[in-house]
Amino acid sequence: MSRSVLRVCLLLLVALGRPGAASESDQDQGEEERTHPPRKGLGHTHWSYEDRNRWSEDYQDCRGTMQSPININMASTIFSPHLRAIQLSGYSLPANERLKLRNNGHTVFLELPQSLAITGGYAQQYRAVQLHLHWGATTGPGSEHTINGHRFAAEIHVVHYNTKYDSFKEAMVQPDGLAVLAAFLEMGPRDNPYYQELLDHMQQIQRDGEEVWVPGFNIASLLPVNLKYYYRYNGSLTTPPCYQAVRWTVFNQTMMISRDQMLKLITSLRNDDGKPLQSNYRQIQSLHGRRVLASFQPTFFAPKQLPAGTASSAAPEEHSSSSFQAGDVLAVLFGVLFAITALAFLLYIHKQRNQNARLDSPIKSKVIYTAATTENTA
Ligand SMILES: [Zn+2]
Repeated sequence: MSRSVLRVCLLLLVALGRPGAASESDQDQGEEERTHPPRKGLGHTHWSYEDRNRWSEDYQDCRGTMQSPININMASTIFSPHLRAIQLSGYSLPANERLKLRNNGHTVFLELPQSLAITGGYAQQYRAVQLHLHWGATTGPGSEHTINGHRFAAEIHVVHYNTKYDSFKEAMVQPDGLAVLAAFLEMGPRDNPYYQELLDHMQQIQRDGEEVWVPGFNIASLLPVNLKYYYRYNGSLTTPPCYQAVRWTVFNQTMMISRDQMLKLITSLRNDDGKPLQSNYRQIQSLHGRRVLASFQPTFFAPKQLPAGTASSAAPEEHSSSSFQAGDVLAVLFGVLFAITALAFLLYIHKQRNQNARLDSPIKSKVIYTAATTENTA
């Protein structure tokens, strides 16, 4: 009898020990992946981007102290409960509303009607102007912002201006003039049909200055579904004239496009020199004491955090969709292990009852635990 109890205790211990062990090994694996050095964009760069360290010679704002992009160190962000979910209005456009898609020599650029607006998540309302993308080369990723030193494959920027100003031009020199919504793009297994709306036309605008009209679609589909979790900081345009007018929103959830789509994005366009338009991202700028706010508590999602400067671009899925997947997996794991433990316990009781019913008197079979205790102490 005492041996049976010991066996159950051992079973319980083993079962309960498993989740801890699993999470530790997950962490180890994560650490291993994280220790790969980040890959830099070593491929062809556009001339203006090759020249990026000299931008400030012609544009003095480019040497300001509130420049973008930045590296977001999750551990240094400050949770702000005042940052509400971003709300978009008018983003779903009918197909008969045509939009101009243009190769401007620096990026692919979609003009947006002013009916698109940010109506929540900022202190003021902002009207959309355009969206564009930043990407890398076949040799490396090309997002502008980085998270804990991790550079994502690409990044989308949707540019808006504050409705309290009469025009984008007027707003772009004001500290609260612009709001840019940024999201990271990663490679996933499936084609993204919304990004395909743009990628379908890339061949038509291969050369600098070329443009094409594309049918309207739901522009919000180019952004993450989760608009609640984001980082917010004050920064600048990431291209000359580098005006320090941008209230940045960098979403935590990333977008997925297929490898073929990413390849199309990277290889379709050419710059004004006729060279491939690639690695069109600016280098990370110093924070100069700026604080980065978070609309959520990043420490809560500890399993997905990467140590600063050690993130790997070889494992982009590490950051996929959101930081909550690891939490979900652990929850399911714990649930399953709990169920197994409970089942084992029930089976044990059932077995003991049968045994007692066969061997012992009916009265004794009802008091298995008392009997075990008695035998133990004896
Ligand atoms: Zn941009």
